[in-house]
Amino acid sequence: MGTAEQRGAGVRDAEITIVGGGAVGCAVAYVLSRAGYGDVQVIEQGELAGATSGQAAGLVGQVRATRERCRLAMASVATFSRIEQETGYTADWRQTGSVRVAMTAERAAEFRELAGVARSAGLEVEFLTPARLSELCPVLEGARAEAALWCPTDGYLQPNSLVMAYAGAARRRGVTFATHTTVTGIGIGGGAVTGVRTDRGAAATSMLINAAGPWAAPVAALAGLEIPAVPVRHEYFVTRPVTGWHGGLPVLRIPDIRIYARAEGPGILCGGWEADGLSLDPRQVAVGQPLAVRPDWDVLSGFARDFAALVPAVAETGVREVFRGFPAFSPDGRFIVGPVPGLRGLVMAAACNAHGVSGSAGLAEHVLESLQPDPSPYVRSLSPARFVPRDWDWESARERAERRYEDYYSLPGATFPVRGES
Ligand SMILES: Cc1cc2nc3c(=O)[nH]c(=O)nc-3n(C[C@H](O)[C@H](O)[C@H](O)COP(=O)(O)OP(=O)(O)OC[C@H]3O[C@@H](n4cnc5c(N)ncnc54)[C@H](O)[C@@H]3O)c2cc1C
Repeated sequence: MGTAEQRGAGVRDAEITIVGGGAVGCAVAYVLSRAGYGDVQVIEQGELAGATSGQAAGLVGQVRATRERCRLAMASVATFSRIEQETGYTADWRQTGSVRVAMTAERAAEFRELAGVARSAGLEVEFLTPARLSELCPVLEGARAEAALWCPTDGYLQPNSLVMAYAGAARRRGVTFATHTTVTGIGIGGGAVTGVRTDRGAAATSMLINAAGPWAAPVAALAGLEIPAVPVRHEYFVTRPVTGWHGGLPVLRIPDIRIYARAEGPGILCGGWEADGLSLDPRQVAVGQPLAVRPDWDVLSGFARDFAALVPAVAETGVREVFRGFPAFSPDGRFIVGPVPGLRGLVMAAACNAHGVSGSAGLAEHVLESLQPDPSPYVRSLSPARFVPRDWDWESARERAERRYEDYYSLPGATFPVRGES
């Protein structure tokens, strides 16, 4: 249960209520309070960062398939670089750079496209010579690469630290946090949100921002809405110490074997995208229900086996810990952000497509923009309006969300016109 300080303030009447104290909810609280919204509370059923966000690998990659997503990631990086200075809280942001390794000619061609998008967005990227690759990533032990794309401003952070930094900065601007408090109902009157009910009492509110991560669909259902934010399982492991690995190494992405890796202290953090994604049916997820995930050793040992082709030590060293959760995916692989049509005051900040820690600051800026009178066409394109009223069915929404997961590192045009992005 925790101390009164850990539990935070109680639920109170507030102009804006954010449901969810993960990376997204806390980033939204930070960005709104910074923009001058003075009366904001966050309601969290557990601890801040206690669900999906606290399990994330913390990779921050800015090389994306579209210019908008690239810019969103760049905006997030700018925030991570500045947050410590501005707030006094650290996000443990390490700008180590990242290397994307191509093992086939087709992948190298994709990297050339990605490099073009990056440069058009103003992001610095560079193709590495084999000698420079060995110098930057000696742990690859001279693996033969068709191409290696280097982004010097990428890196990784500790998701818990980032969430605490957002929350600390927001709290200082007057945002209150009610932790260990579950939202169980949404009050509606005259076509608008009027209040929020919780297991610790009710309060009046005129705007409810749904940042409930894998619970976003059941929370939306409290207002009678169906939003296809589908939880899809994701996991990675961290090994015991391995010679040569240290926190200053660049982040690695090897899409041809569907693997990402970085150092976690002296160990190897290694994760990947399963070929056969496993989702939950959001209609079966109850509000407040814990979403336990058991490590799937078949999947995890598959990641180790594939990565061992480049780094044999990964399969020879014991696993220290497994991290896992259910990040929410949308059927079209895009965020679901902004006011819900037909119900004034209900706003979505969900379906991060496994990009919700690195993208949190940019996504929160999109939420802010969506509340202004004239949001950009891009922000409008993220609106939940594309799913409301429902002209889709849950089975295919789930299937498509799983495919987004499975296709995270797929080549362009492999299955869908809009790819998932790392
Ligand atoms: C293993 C793994 C690795 C990942 N690696 C990365 C990575 O490297 N980079 C990256 O950017 N992303 C990564 N992700 C994805 C990332 O974790 C998610 O996109 C992100 O955490 C989503 O943040 P969120 O705030 O939306 O969700 P959450 O962190 O799940 O927060 C939602 C919060 O809402 C609360 N809540 C839900 N319902 C209620 C209710 N009724 N009342 C009150 N509170 C409620 C929950 O308790 C929860 O704390 C990874 C995910 C996993 C599982």
